[in-house]
Amino acid sequence: MVAKATTTIRQGMHYQPEHAAWFAANQVLFNQVAAFYFEVMQAHEKILDLGDQDALLALEKLTHATKKNPHPVMPLSSIGKDIPAMFRRAAIHAALGAARAFYAHLKKWLTRRAKVMAKGKKFLERPPVPPRSWNTSATFYYGQWKGRTSSSILLKVWTGSCWSWLKVRLTGRELPNDAQAGSPSLVRLGKQWWLHTPVEKHFQRPPKIETQVTTNAATKICAVDLNLNEHLAVCTVQTVEGTILATRFIGGGREISGFRKRQLGRIARNRAKTGIIAQNEQDNAALWRKIRNADEHIAHLVSTRIVQFTQEQGASILVFEHLGNLKPEKGKYSHRGNSKRAFWMKGRIFNFAKYKAWNLGILTSRVNPRHTSRECARCHSLIVRYAQGQPIEGYTPGTPLCLCQQCQMRGNADRNASLIIGQRLIARSQKPFKEKPRAPVRRAGRVEKSTGVARSQDAKRKKGPSLSDAWHGDDNAHGTAQEGTLWMDERPSAIPTQLRLPPE
Ligand SMILES: [Zn+2]
Repeated sequence: MVAKATTTIRQGMHYQPEHAAWFAANQVLFNQVAAFYFEVMQAHEKILDLGDQDALLALEKLTHATKKNPHPVMPLSSIGKDIPAMFRRAAIHAALGAARAFYAHLKKWLTRRAKVMAKGKKFLERPPVPPRSWNTSATFYYGQWKGRTSSSILLKVWTGSCWSWLKVRLTGRELPNDAQAGSPSLVRLGKQWWLHTPVEKHFQRPPKIETQVTTNAATKICAVDLNLNEHLAVCTVQTVEGTILATRFIGGGREISGFRKRQLGRIARNRAKTGIIAQNEQDNAALWRKIRNADEHIAHLVSTRIVQFTQEQGASILVFEHLGNLKPEKGKYSHRGNSKRAFWMKGRIFNFAKYKAWNLGILTSRVNPRHTSRECARCHSLIVRYAQGQPIEGYTPGTPLCLCQQCQMRGNADRNASLIIGQRLIARSQKPFKEKPRAPVRRAGRVEKSTGVARSQDAKRKKGPSLSDAWHGDDNAHGTAQEGTLWMDERPSAIPTQLRLPPE
């Protein structure tokens, strides 16, 4: 079976400063044409029942004058003369995508409304609105570009007054040889224009996780514990037999959290100044954008590092825990906002990592998060969790160190959690039919906070169904070789470099 993965190659462009205005004019026209076709579809909704190819033909018939069709119903020439066919088609494609999405939303909204109205209730949800403004990057179909080499491309652009071929030099990553390139787009980021090219790679579909775990003892799994503290991610690689091969701590948590907190503080102060949000809306919108960009940037860096580590170590499976729900927090605005965003970022890191891993033929999965940070990865007793200099007892959520009083395992608590996550996936794959249905994820967050001390045998028994039984039943589950030297050999300080944030 063949699988495919798409990715975008982003290349910088060298061009004369005045050409930036051409790119901008080209994009404006592209969006005018797309908006025009969106209106045509609103006037002829039946077109959306057609497949893309037929829809394209129908739209051209309605808009494009030919000898056979001299007087189209809604002529495109009302927007501009001599618009090249490939420019028109790329814009139609963009409009079709937007129209399909809009009408799909509308349909869902109508269904919801009908349901509520049928019960005799008022339906207050606002209907979806068609796009008010268009700001799509212009796509170049072949014919609008030509002569692409590894370092240059010819683009046909609307300069604002005419169509002109322009040669631009490309910098950065070249298109991979083993992949099929799609139509490039001209993308504006800040003041700079970039060329984005989607590429599609075909590869052998990797065997299912269960198959890999049960039929190949050499299979390696990279398990990741995502956190809200300094170590945004802690990754461990283990074999399906449980031998621990490597650990990686990915830091930067304090920096992003501090950055966010400062921006949220500014937003809060802006609001307090007038008491009217609208007054400072512009300022705050910019601050929100800053936070969003920083979060996204970090999520990309962290996910890339996770996947790089997975690949470096030769692991073919990547596993996370389910996120659970966001627990509402008390405290200052900036604190609440910060923890909410940190939570969302975890979701982003997962999504990005999953996608990046798939591009390399690595499969991603998630496991039940229940008690992952409370169980000892070696003997499955409940652990003590504490901070340096604190008494070694009880369980303080979020502290970095852990000790198992049963087997004397000591180490980093997040690393322990990541090992548990990996073990869960292995156990689930080995006994796919015995595993209980996943516990409600909603609970997971609460467990961490509620109970305090958990050291006694009683507490241990109370911990409920865990994987310890599955593991104890299997003598081979724990290799003995690594147990003596487990843990503290790998310190968080081994982080090579910090993640960098954009300047504030
Ligand atoms: Zn233990």
